[in-house]
Amino acid sequence: MSYLNTIEWEIVPETIPEVKRNCPKCGEKKNYISSEKFRVNANGPLIDIWLIYQCKKCKSTWNMAIHERTNIKEISKDKYEKFLSNDKELAMEYGFDMNIHNKNRTEIIWDSVKYHIISKELNRAGKMENEQQYIIRCKYQLPIRVDRLLCEKLCISRSKVKDLYEKGAIYSQENSNILKLKIFDGMLICINNKYFE
Ligand SMILES: [Zn+2]
Repeated sequence: MSYLNTIEWEIVPETIPEVKRNCPKCGEKKNYISSEKFRVNANGPLIDIWLIYQCKKCKSTWNMAIHERTNIKEISKDKYEKFLSNDKELAMEYGFDMNIHNKNRTEIIWDSVKYHIISKELNRAGKMENEQQYIIRCKYQLPIRVDRLLCEKLCISRSKVKDLYEKGAIYSQENSNILKLKIFDGMLICINNKYFE
């Protein structure tokens, strides 16, 4: 059993990242937002599936390819139904899928993603315990830097976070400067509260 106070921070995105593309109608690069809808095209046993995006300004659509000329046998029935019914969770999955984005050569606008953080106490050690352990949970990979997360969650400035790190009050098992790392699922951050006073 862990003897540390442990709090889980679950990062939950509320939106799919926007992408920047050249909009033929606007005649310049514009941000496109995900419609959270799929387009499915069946040609015999071959299936094409796209996630539909819309230019923020003129609503022109752009389709991000998910499956191209894929045999329907390769897609489970359950998943196929989800594509047809525009399943929100599935749209989120593909909206964050780096392989799909790379294949489509999209430019992702990470700042466009709205998210919230759910805090949950997992383990409570004695009151005298100064050390607090945080575990990051994120189903979808978001490039949030640790220092930004700590500013937000601990309600302190970035310079205060840096100061605490230099005093050894913020630490982790990672070898590099944890403040500059991007969060990942299962990341552990330890904070010694005694420096806060
Ligand atoms: Zn446009």
